[in-house]
Amino acid sequence: MILFKKAGDLNIHLQKLRSQNLKIGFVPTMGALHGGHVSLIERSKSEIDITVCSIYVNPLQFNNKKDFETYPLKPEADILLLEHTGCDILFHPTENQIYPDQDPMRSFDLGRLEQIFEGKFRPGHFQGVCLIVEKLLGLVKPNQLYLGQKDYQQTLVIKKLVQLMGMDIGVTVCPTFREESGLAMSSRNLRLNVAERELASELYKSLMKISKELFSRDIEALKDEAIARLESIGFKVEYLEIATTDGLQAVQKIEPKYSYIILIAAFLGSVRLIDNLMVTG
Ligand code: AMP
Repeated sequence: MILFKKAGDLNIHLQKLRSQNLKIGFVPTMGALHGGHVSLIERSKSEIDITVCSIYVNPLQFNNKKDFETYPLKPEADILLLEHTGCDILFHPTENQIYPDQDPMRSFDLGRLEQIFEGKFRPGHFQGVCLIVEKLLGLVKPNQLYLGQKDYQQTLVIKKLVQLMGMDIGVTVCPTFREESGLAMSSRNLRLNVAERELASELYKSLMKISKELFSRDIEALKDEAIARLESIGFKVEYLEIATTDGLQAVQKIEPKYSYIILIAAFLGSVRLIDNLMVTG
């Protein structure tokens, strides 16, 4: 694996690869890598010539300063894991490589995606995501981008960004990689203690229960029950909704043959967890 810290060096190397007609797959991350990230890299490796991973904890996408300050970092372990996975290139820039002083702040028209769910509860988050992803896409110019379903709304935002940028980049959304308990892998899980980590798998269990009963029971009752149960064992639920998979419109009624997504965000102590499950009628 080749490690680049400078955007210019990465650019020169990628240009060479592109001139050899090699296709590039890209997996942007914020590090503290786990099985979910590895599954994206493996998918890219299985489909495309060169796999580039980036690690950069983007301060602009954190609406909560404490969350940024406590975001786990483990660069040495990340590098070992990436080498072991067979990643070809790691871009691990410093902040001044990404946001040089005079860089103008841009704003992106994300429509209602920015006002609902993660957009509503994390003001400014998706603008920050778009700023970094636009930079990285402009630099890496990948043929294919690999994202995780775990951050489903983010996949819709990034698809929209790719459209706005007018770049010819395919987007592959990979399934959520879970621990044996069902807990969706996340860098933030590192901030849970042993008891919390065990409890955290209840989020997935709630999603599973809703998915099984979605077509036979009243949606509001199902949501209320799940929220009450989760709150009784220590979660603070921010939202739990059933929405259409394309436009993330919350629904009160399920139609057969359509796809829906059950979305949840909840705090366990100071750690905010999100998860989702897709269901087809
Ligand atoms: P992050 O480092 O959290 O910004 O995530 C980088 C990429 O990995 C994003 O596309 C995430 O959706 C994806 N990702 C994070 N956790 C998982 C998971 N458990 N399964 C699959 N993809 C994931």
